[in-house]
Amino acid sequence: MSLPNYIRNNMETLLQEWESSAKIIAPGLKKTRKTALRDHAEEMLKFIADDIRKPQSSVEKAQKSTGILKNMATITGAESHGAERMELGLSLLEVISEYRALRASVTRLWGEHQGGFKQKDIQDLVRFNEAMDQLLGEAVSGYSKRKEQETRLFEAMLSSTPDPSSIFDLEGRFMYVNDAMTELLEKPRREILGKTLFEAETPSATDVFEKIKIIAQTGKDSRLELSHRLSSGRELIYDCYFVAIRDERNRMEAVAKISRDITERKATEHQVWRNANFDQLTGIPNRRLYQDRLDQSLKHADRTGCPFALLFIDLDRFKEVNDQIGHGLGDMLLKQAAQRIMACVREVDTVARLGGDEFTVILNDIPDPRKARIIARSLLAELARPFKLNNQTAHISGSIGLTLHPRDGRTAEQLIRNADQAMYAAKQAGGNRLRLYSSSMKQVESEHTRIVKELSRAIEQGQFTVYFQPVVDLSSGVISHAEALIRWQHPERGLLSPVTFLKTAEQTGMIDAINKLVLTEAAACSRYWGQGLNRIFPVSINESPISFFTRGTISDWASQFSTIDLTGSRIIIEITEAALANASATSADLLRDLAKYGIALAIDDFGMGRFSMAALKDCGVDYLKMDQSIVCDMQEDSNKEDIADAIISMAHSIQIGVIAEGVENRRQSQWLKRAGCDLAQGYLYSEPLSQNAFQALLKRHRPTDGDTFSR
Ligand code: C2E
Ligand code: MG
Ligand code: MG
Repeated sequence: MSLPNYIRNNMETLLQEWESSAKIIAPGLKKTRKTALRDHAEEMLKFIADDIRKPQSSVEKAQKSTGILKNMATITGAESHGAERMELGLSLLEVISEYRALRASVTRLWGEHQGGFKQKDIQDLVRFNEAMDQLLGEAVSGYSKRKEQETRLFEAMLSSTPDPSSIFDLEGRFMYVNDAMTELLEKPRREILGKTLFEAETPSATDVFEKIKIIAQTGKDSRLELSHRLSSGRELIYDCYFVAIRDERNRMEAVAKISRDITERKATEHQVWRNANFDQLTGIPNRRLYQDRLDQSLKHADRTGCPFALLFIDLDRFKEVNDQIGHGLGDMLLKQAAQRIMACVREVDTVARLGGDEFTVILNDIPDPRKARIIARSLLAELARPFKLNNQTAHISGSIGLTLHPRDGRTAEQLIRNADQAMYAAKQAGGNRLRLYSSSMKQVESEHTRIVKELSRAIEQGQFTVYFQPVVDLSSGVISHAEALIRWQHPERGLLSPVTFLKTAEQTGMIDAINKLVLTEAAACSRYWGQGLNRIFPVSINESPISFFTRGTISDWASQFSTIDLTGSRIIIEITEAALANASATSADLLRDLAKYGIALAIDDFGMGRFSMAALKDCGVDYLKMDQSIVCDMQEDSNKEDIADAIISMAHSIQIGVIAEGVENRRQSQWLKRAGCDLAQGYLYSEPLSQNAFQALLKRHRPTDGDTFSR
């Protein structure tokens, strides 16, 4: 039987042969579909059978062996076969082996069928081999075209990716670099390829080389973070992946390095870390980092036996100043305070802001406690210096608590508690001072916490009551108005003066509830007593500087007043001179606007501070309340008389009334009357009285009765 006939008659046997040899040649194909295994085989065998029968020229014969016979590729299917085998991951050698196996099996099976080859079979055999060579040539061509295309695509992809990539041989010589890599190295490709990392003067050459060596030995992929400084000085950070590349025999052949620019991510991470650990305003460590540093200091001290000191710093009067100068300048003050604190300590120390106006300092390695005290005193001096804030000047000071490790405590909690207690003691003693922790301070703290607890209970249970003290017109002796003064009817300790609880109430914010109570009572009494007297009867209230200025704007004030019925009443707000000492332009506006709401303004405890006459006029002040200390010393100290005289005449020259406070005897009242003082208030006329008692007093001293305070 001729070969073409044999092929046609035994197609299935030949295809089975092809299939099983394909499995042996490329074990990777085992799991592939049967059709894929036999891909193009039938087409190719049919082509061979047809081709052997066809006459052929010598040119065709030559072209066949090179696989370049025109217009044939599509018929034979060999080119597609080569390309598809390449896609399936077969090597070129495996593709060639497939054809060799086909050649061998056809020859063997047909030979067996023929019972050995005869002379007549030679022609078919020659033509068969020529056809096989053609198929092989086409398959190789299909395979390489596909391979080239793949290489081209990968190359295009690699060079266009923004991630700098390179491939090194195992000696660290560049085998490949993409465009991004040449840009990064700021060199043309030719100056890089074939060079070692060192020859190409690659940054971080040593690190990269070490990595390549390790991967060459272990065959394991790896990662490395590298920084790269460009000639412009800009620093970039890369996350580099090192991938082991193996040859077809699974031997280490090269190492690919793909670098991803993570500069921005790093910057964001750094920012996140900074935000978490540093105070946004001052840029110094925050509470979190401080706790970390404190732990480190404790460990270090335990290891080395060298003690350290912990300081708590609280700025005195900051809240008032902040409310007066506005939060923008307040922030500026905090920044400057942080800088001043930093300037007093060493590099090894930690300065942190715990929040608000609280700072802390860890002074490391302080074998001699005196050194800690010296630093703390310099901190006090620094904080007491005036703060220049744009064109304003603010005065504050600091209260510092100091505790020593290991003398006062060995744990972070203990030391923090100690420093806090010592700081609180410094505050209680009037501020602008340093207190060293001592075990007796526990008492102070518990006193403080007790008051806080009691105060909130007092508010809930309505233990507060408002007393009224008359303010008398010096010329007519008539009760001009009243000052509302808060009292605490303590269940055990009796009637308490505000001095015992106001500070705590301000610190804890409970002052708001107290103020609201006083304002409500004052408005009601003003209206009620005014109705009885048939005239306006003003009642003054004391505003704590904090709550006054935290109301912020006059509209907040208005909304506060709108919750209280003010009709028929008249309110005078007393603000202390000290609170206004740092008043900003906006505070002045705020105060001036009070008049629009029918509210008068008095400056309390006037004469001891630094408030200027010009500013008084600017704020639209109605009354000055001359401080008790001036009035009470007038007889003994002629200076005080001069001061009182000056206050009265200056106030009058700008149409501001003067109220003398703390008038206790007739000599004082007479002197004041002579000096032209308008109003007076003090024990001489009456102590502060309960609402009922004050009402009775008013009744007794009706001007029509002629029984006035004209003593
Ligand atoms: P202040 O506004 O200067 O009130 C005058 C203080 O002097 C009152 O003390 C009053 O009882 C006392 N006083 C009156 N006449 C005489 C006198 O002839 N001689 C002497 N030595 N003292 C006299 P008080 O009631 O203990 O109040 C103390 C301070 O507490 C007040 O000073 C005021 O600044 C503040 N305060 C009182 N009530 C309130 C309130 O409702 N809210 C706020 N925020 N502060 C208040
Ligand atoms: Mg007052
Ligand atoms: Mg006063």
